[in-house]
Amino acid sequence: MITVLSGGTGTPKLLQGMVQLLNPEDITVIVNTLENDYFSGVYVAPDLDTVMYTLAGIINEDTWYGIKGDSFITHDRLKEIGCPETLRIGDRDRAFKIQKTLLMKNHSLSQAVDMQRKELNIESKIIPMSNQDSQINITTDRGNMEFHEFLVENQGTPDVLDMNYQKVDPAPGIIESIKNSDMVVIGPSNPITSIGPIISAKGVRKALKNTYLVAVSPIIGDKPVSGPAAKFMQAMGHEVSCLGVANIYKDFLDKFIIDLEDVNSQEEIEKLISNVMLTQTIMRNMTDKINLARCILGEYV
Ligand code: GDP
Repeated sequence: MITVLSGGTGTPKLLQGMVQLLNPEDITVIVNTLENDYFSGVYVAPDLDTVMYTLAGIINEDTWYGIKGDSFITHDRLKEIGCPETLRIGDRDRAFKIQKTLLMKNHSLSQAVDMQRKELNIESKIIPMSNQDSQINITTDRGNMEFHEFLVENQGTPDVLDMNYQKVDPAPGIIESIKNSDMVVIGPSNPITSIGPIISAKGVRKALKNTYLVAVSPIIGDKPVSGPAAKFMQAMGHEVSCLGVANIYKDFLDKFIIDLEDVNSQEEIEKLISNVMLTQTIMRNMTDKINLARCILGEYV
């Protein structure tokens, strides 16, 4: 059994490669919920939906959110009649979000997600990091903001000075899944706002220390491949590099995969983590995704 910790862009790409090499039933994905919130009356769990759509083969790979080929009739109409529609939610995607919102009247988030993944014939397990609400408070040069205010309304442009979020209780099954896994994988996801919240859920860090853990750097050179990870790493006092990521994960990491471009950092990282592997970590196509998955899984496949 393999447990994967995931955000909503880098790790889902990797999951597409992993399911080609493993029996999907042997994979459990624990997903960040820090960005979950209500928009236009529906519950939006961005990273969970991306992981679900990815494993169902319907993700829009241009944006890494929403469903490929979706229409936007409801979104356009809502805007016409004066609804804010902060997020551009497609019609089919919205139907799925409405279903989740309704399910959550009588079920926990993890139960709702489990029902939806079964309806989508997804054999891997998908568990939200927590059934509790979380909120992130981002201090920027333009004032305090919530996540979507920063990323969507302000397009991630403000300088991030600080951020904090409350630690949550892990959803049922998370600690057991980590403990019973042959390997835990931290995919190339934002270490501060995607993986950080999962690791800080109560008991998770301790469970990770007792498991064989492999991570992939989301930073190549001095930049993330996409998204605001650099701003958040800098704000939290970390160098924006694979060495900076290694420092965040060093307490529980057994193997760290960095990009070939970062060969000059290898020696320094080996002082923190004994097994450092270099490979191409940019995933542009399925071959890249399978190759990276193979490096991670090593003798497991
Ligand atoms: P979010 O929830 O949308 O922020 O997505 P994640 O946290 O899952 O992923 C964002 C991180 O994935 C960013 O820091 C990117 O640098 C990283 N990333 C995206 N694509 C790739 C890739 O192909 N290779 C690597 N190494 N990192 C990637």
